Amino acid sequence: MKFNTKAIHGGQENVDPVYGSVMPPIYQTSTYSQSTPGGHKGFEYSRSGNPTRTVLENSLASIENGNFGLAFGSGLAAIDAVLKLFKPGDEIISTNDLYGGSYRLFTRIFEGLGIKFHFIGMRETDGIEAYINENTKMIWVETPTNPMMNIIDIEAISVISKKHDLLLAVDNTFATPYLQQPLDLGADIVMHSATKYLGGHSDVVMGNLVVKDEKLAEKLYFIQKASGAICGPQDCFLVLRGIKTLHIRMQRHCENGEAVAKFLRSHPKVENVYWPGFEDHPNHDIAKKQMKGFGGMISFSTKENTLKSATDILEKLKVFTLAESLGGVESLAGHPASMTHASIPKEERVKTGVVDSLIRLSVGIEDEEDLIADLKQAIG
Ligand SMILES: *Cc1c(COP(=O)(O)O)cnc(C)c1O
Repeated sequence: MKFNTKAIHGGQENVDPVYGSVMPPIYQTSTYSQSTPGGHKGFEYSRSGNPTRTVLENSLASIENGNFGLAFGSGLAAIDAVLKLFKPGDEIISTNDLYGGSYRLFTRIFEGLGIKFHFIGMRETDGIEAYINENTKMIWVETPTNPMMNIIDIEAISVISKKHDLLLAVDNTFATPYLQQPLDLGADIVMHSATKYLGGHSDVVMGNLVVKDEKLAEKLYFIQKASGAICGPQDCFLVLRGIKTLHIRMQRHCENGEAVAKFLRSHPKVENVYWPGFEDHPNHDIAKKQMKGFGGMISFSTKENTLKSATDILEKLKVFTLAESLGGVESLAGHPASMTHASIPKEERVKTGVVDSLIRLSVGIEDEEDLIADLKQAIG
C-alpha cells in the first residue's frame, strides 16, 4: 500500500466484527467482562489496552512504516515514556534547537533524576561523536526544528547511532509521516505530538511513538501500562479521523506555506524568513533528500527587531489566530520568545536565533490570497 491508502486503511482491517461499522466504535469503557479469571477477549483494563486505541496505534505504525504504535495523553507524555527507558548516569545527546516543553522535561525533570543531556547544534553532523562516551544511550533529534526550521540529516545521524549502538529518536511532529519517514532513514523511535498535524483540527491533545523493533516496543508498552499516561478512546477516534485526511491537508499546508514564505521574503519590513524550501536555506539539499515537501511552518523576524514590532503584527492579524500550538486546519501565529519557548533562558534562546521579534506561523489550509492579505495589513 502507498501512503494515501495507508492513511485511510492502514492497520484497520475489520475494525468492527459485530456490525461492520467503517469507523471503529468508541469503546468508552474502563474494563471488560471475563468468563473465568483471565478469560478475556484480548482486553482486560483500558490503561493496558482499549480497542479504539489499538486501531489508532495500528494506523500509526502503518503510516510511519513501523511495526508498533503507542498512544499517550500528550506529546510530552510520549517523550516522558521514552526517557523512562534510561537510568541515572545515562547520557543523551539532543538537538539544541527544540520544542521548549521537551527542553523543560529534559532539564527540569530528568536531569534531576540523574540523566545527563548534551544540547548541541546538529546542522553539521561531524561534531556529534565528540559527545559520545560509554554512558551515552540515545540521540534525540527534532527536524525541522522548532521554531528555527533547521534541517538535520537523519540518515547521517543514524550512521553514527548505529556505529555506537545508541537509540536514535526523531520528533516528527513538524514534518508528519506524509513528508518524512524517519524509521526508513534509520531511526529507532518516531515521536509525534498528535495534537498538531496528525489530529489536525486543534481539538485534541495526544502523543505517539512508533518503533520497528519488537523488544523496544515491549519496553515502551510496559512503560505505557505501568506509568499510565494513556489517552481516552474519544481522543483516539478523533486522531484516527484526522489521519484519514493527513495527506490532502499536508499538500495544502505545503502549497500555502510556500506562498506565504515567498511573500514574507519579498516584504521590505521583514528581516529573515526561515523555511526549508528556500534554495539558500543552509540544509535545503538535505530537506529535499529526506522530505517530500517543505511543510507549512515558517518563522520570520522584523528588520526593526524589537519586541514591539512583533507584538504590533500579532495584535493586528485577523485570519491568523494568535495562539499556542500548530498543525491545525486554521492558520495560527505565535511568539516563541514569550510563548512556546519562554521556558528556555534568554541567552540560550538568542544563541539559536529565537530573538524577541521572531514570529512563528503555522500556515493553515485557507485560501492563500486571504492569508497573504492578512499578513500584508498586519505588517504594514
Ligand atoms: C507540541 C509539541 C510537542 C509536545 O506535544 P504536546 O502534545 O503539546 O504535549 C513536542 N514536540 C513538538 C515539536 C511539538 O510541537
